[in-house]
Amino acid sequence: MLDVLRRIVQEVGGAGDLEQALAIIVKRVKQAMAADVCSVYLADYSQRRHVLMATDGLNPAAVGHVSLAMGDGVVSVVAETAEPFNLDNAPDHPRYQFVAETGEEYYHGFLGVPIIHHRRVLGVLVVRQRQRRKFAEDEVAFLVTMAAQLAGAIAHAEASGGISRLSNSDSSLTAGTVLEGLAGAPGVGIGIAFVMYPPADLDAVPDRKPANVDAEIITLKAAVATVQAEIQALGERVGAHLRAEERALFDAYSLMLNSETLLNALVERIRAGNWASGSLRDTINEQARVFEQMDEPYLRERAQDVRDLGRRILVCLQSAGRRSPPPYPERTVLVGEEITATMLAEVPREKLVAVVSASGSRSSHVAILARALGVPSVVGATDLPAGRLEGHSLVVDGYRGRVYLDPSEAVRTEYIRLAREEAMLVAGLEGLKDLPAETPDGVRIPLYANSGLISDVAPSLTSGAEGIGLYRTEFPFMIRDRFPGEAEQQRIYRQVLESYAPRPVVLRTLDVGGDKPLSYFPIVEDNPFLGWRGIRITLDHPEIFLVQLRAMLRASVGLNNLRLLLPMVSQISEVDEAKLLIERAYHELLAGGENIAMPPLGVMVEVPSAVYQSEAIARRVDFLSIGSNDLTQYLLAVDRNNARVAGLYDALHPAVLRAIYQVIESGHRQGKPVGVCGEMAGDPVAAIVLLGMGVDHMSMSVASLPRVKWAIRNISCDKAKAILAEVLDMDDPLAVRDHVEKVLESAGLGGLVRAGK
Ligand code: PEP
Ligand code: MG
Repeated sequence: MLDVLRRIVQEVGGAGDLEQALAIIVKRVKQAMAADVCSVYLADYSQRRHVLMATDGLNPAAVGHVSLAMGDGVVSVVAETAEPFNLDNAPDHPRYQFVAETGEEYYHGFLGVPIIHHRRVLGVLVVRQRQRRKFAEDEVAFLVTMAAQLAGAIAHAEASGGISRLSNSDSSLTAGTVLEGLAGAPGVGIGIAFVMYPPADLDAVPDRKPANVDAEIITLKAAVATVQAEIQALGERVGAHLRAEERALFDAYSLMLNSETLLNALVERIRAGNWASGSLRDTINEQARVFEQMDEPYLRERAQDVRDLGRRILVCLQSAGRRSPPPYPERTVLVGEEITATMLAEVPREKLVAVVSASGSRSSHVAILARALGVPSVVGATDLPAGRLEGHSLVVDGYRGRVYLDPSEAVRTEYIRLAREEAMLVAGLEGLKDLPAETPDGVRIPLYANSGLISDVAPSLTSGAEGIGLYRTEFPFMIRDRFPGEAEQQRIYRQVLESYAPRPVVLRTLDVGGDKPLSYFPIVEDNPFLGWRGIRITLDHPEIFLVQLRAMLRASVGLNNLRLLLPMVSQISEVDEAKLLIERAYHELLAGGENIAMPPLGVMVEVPSAVYQSEAIARRVDFLSIGSNDLTQYLLAVDRNNARVAGLYDALHPAVLRAIYQVIESGHRQGKPVGVCGEMAGDPVAAIVLLGMGVDHMSMSVASLPRVKWAIRNISCDKAKAILAEVLDMDDPLAVRDHVEKVLESAGLGGLVRAGK
């Protein structure tokens, strides 16, 4: 069964659309289970009906037309109970309903399993048998597995236009569709989708209109010819070492590339209006499917060869494309399955109005970077049909995490109004810029900016930030193709330190690994967030660490506003070892005659072990900085980038709040200041709770700064302490948020929470 399952999944993976995928499933499942019928019903909740969407065994003309009212028939029993239902004689069941239009005869055996995605029943997968028979346990398990595989694909298709789309062959996206994701960076962006996809990934290629059909055909033919030459050269080079049957593989590759069928199909698709890469994706999928459906295992394997050739041609097309800048629309909404921080940095800032990524969460680095740049973004939009969005008009609501596809005039107008209101609120807060973040009862909390790019230092300078509380040095490392040298780093750090002097700038030492890979320093691990990242890497590579430390120290000469911060500390020994290396770099420079002051040193508390050892850490350093992004991830065991569990990720979780409170108190017992530099500091609700805990400073993206300052200037420290006492008694993050929001609203600060609703 496992083999059959694997084959079906593989075949379904190659299907061009959901209709095709469903057709493959019903055909293959019927065969594998030796059933007389296999059908898929999808739930149409707006019409309250279960619609027959695919069948092998019933009348094909009934597909898309026949449906059962919700509540009727044994299919409804499956949907209501969300469990498999196995009957040896369905007609005996009181809810059974005979549907003549499907051309159904009297079937007895019935097995239905629910198709569930994110706890929601999307439909029912059914097999039926003429004779009376109860399906065996392994058959039930097989069908349940099949349905689970199907769920993701259906949810995806639903998001691109609802199931109505499947009943007619129109594959266009439905205007007005709302795609749900997570609020990545606040703001509203209205523009045209431009899809970015990783290199050599055929399935991620979007549809795109060719600018010039003839030029596109020429580019494509050149790419095919290049691959032909490559394959021939490869065949000649290794041919002598191969047996005749292995050599035949290269001949087969050449034949495929030379075949008129391939070229004609490609050219035809380009003439029909898709660009070379999109035409290649469809043609290769079509040809691979032919092989995948063959019964002979050897021939089936050839599908992989077709896909391999497709990838090679795509790489050629991509490198040809790189010679000219991509056609970014004037108002670009950057869209993709997985938008990375580097992809975001590629689009000229003046053209970028919003970002939408199918993967990621609020605390992924792409969201952090988008916030730093003030670009509204939605992440974790898992059902985003990214490849089909190119050229569509989008409204991106970065407050609520929603994307409107080809929105109506009314939606557009409403969002233009919201954006204007937001601009007015921000303009209203402008006046706070030069005022301190001081509570009505006189407690001052310095507010710093988080940064990582030279380009976002300028906006932070005018935002009223009292310094940089976290400069993520990995960003300059990520956008290069090698480790930056000492002089290069020194120049970058000097620029940041100088722009802010005499205000403090906290430079964090390199925190790569986890979700911040360096293309030129690949780390392959099963579990990167628990692996080699942050200080673990830099202590293992003193040559990299010392270069960075020297660059930072040198950059600070004469300014004296540098502070150092160590990321991902989970052991006391790491602090001690890092201190030794810092002292070594410092003394080397002194010995070289440089006039350098030893900067204050801080440690990030972002791992549970550091929470419990925070007092011992505080004893060794000058300040603590709580990294609530990672701390939340590690305390709650919720991957900060995984959209599937993003609903569980909440820094207001009582466990996270208690941990933070404990760190602040430990630091204070040692007389050391404790700040928070994770994203929660930029959330006015969380900021009030932190104020109650006695936090000494907060660092956030500049876009959040005015709101947090407004909150602090209006809520007294005593009030915040009272709020803290109340929320520490609560069991649930939502209750915490709700409570603090109500306090803010009754204090006349509704504007701070409205945008998020
Ligand atoms: C954090 O983990 O809270 C933090 C500030 O660091 P980063 O988001 O860069 O991991
Ligand atoms: Mg971190």
